[in-house]
Amino acid sequence: MISFSSFYRQIADTQLQHWLESLPAILGEWQRQHKHGNLPKWEKVLAKLHYPAPEFLDLKDSVTIGDGQQLDSGQTEKLENLLRILQPWRKGPFHVHGIHIDTEWRSDWKWDRVAPHISPLTNRTVLDVGCGSGYHMWRMLGAGAKRVVGIDPSALFLCQFEAIKRLIDTELPVHLLPLGIEELPPLDAFDTVFSMGVLYHRRSPIDHLLQLRDQLRMGGELVLETLVVDGDKDTVLVPQDRYGKMNNVWFLPSIDALKLWLEKCDFTDVRCVNVDVTSLAEQRSTPWMQNESLVDYLDPKDINLTVEGYPAPKRATFIAVKNRSPQDAD
Ligand code: SAH
Repeated sequence: MISFSSFYRQIADTQLQHWLESLPAILGEWQRQHKHGNLPKWEKVLAKLHYPAPEFLDLKDSVTIGDGQQLDSGQTEKLENLLRILQPWRKGPFHVHGIHIDTEWRSDWKWDRVAPHISPLTNRTVLDVGCGSGYHMWRMLGAGAKRVVGIDPSALFLCQFEAIKRLIDTELPVHLLPLGIEELPPLDAFDTVFSMGVLYHRRSPIDHLLQLRDQLRMGGELVLETLVVDGDKDTVLVPQDRYGKMNNVWFLPSIDALKLWLEKCDFTDVRCVNVDVTSLAEQRSTPWMQNESLVDYLDPKDINLTVEGYPAPKRATFIAVKNRSPQDAD
């Protein structure tokens, strides 16, 4: 069974210690509820991942574990078969002992768009909300973060993350907790909070921004990446039904509308630092994710539109600072 006790131990003497008042009960409940489904199968995979510590590790420019020379071909094949049980792999890519886990998303491209604009992560305590398989968490650690905590309710993503962690070093200060943002108490503790690819899945986007704010210390930085549409500060697209075949898309604001939302939530120094239309090369089916992907979500006659006729996915990154308490603003 996946254990969170090393996380509890690691945060006992840190600014995250108040979390220990509620977290063990919530995660204990999660462990009880998730007895069924595929989790036992995935946990069997994790239990088999005993490999020597990698002689080569890159988390700065990629996620590369091992130089591909450490395991013999039989061991490599066995490892690949185990990792394939954890399919579909959506966020990556990971290079593991010469195995290229070619994920649906080139999450490294997103990181390349975001990383140049953020305050250096050196020595920072970081929260990644909706972290997926944790790809960006490894890059955050590689950028010098002191501690990286990711939250994501998906049990599969947790197992993919744990698999990668077991292949690197289980004692590293990187932890994925199977939680939704709404399950976090206001911790006021993180130096940087990331929310990438999550806001448009939230039914109450303003509440999401306030929940993110609640996790930051005063002076801390929010990094927000989400889908946007063209238009002025009064423009927000609410899809009638599905958007790009997704049935959980609620609000797609314009850049100016989202700036306004952030300012209304008392963030300061709000900046949009990057805008990018998602290309068919960034999100696609691969041998590690064989389901439909972006090309199937777009109008075959006009890839500027989704199959529903909405503008094709365009993503923007915002940076904002928590500089004052709500009372100061009154
Ligand atoms: N941040 C990653 C993954 C984005 S996909 C990236 O940018 O590539 C969106 C993720 O949000 C999914 O993994 C989904 O499981 C997670 N998610 C959904 N509801 C959530 C919630 N309430 N709180 C936190 N994460 C959530």
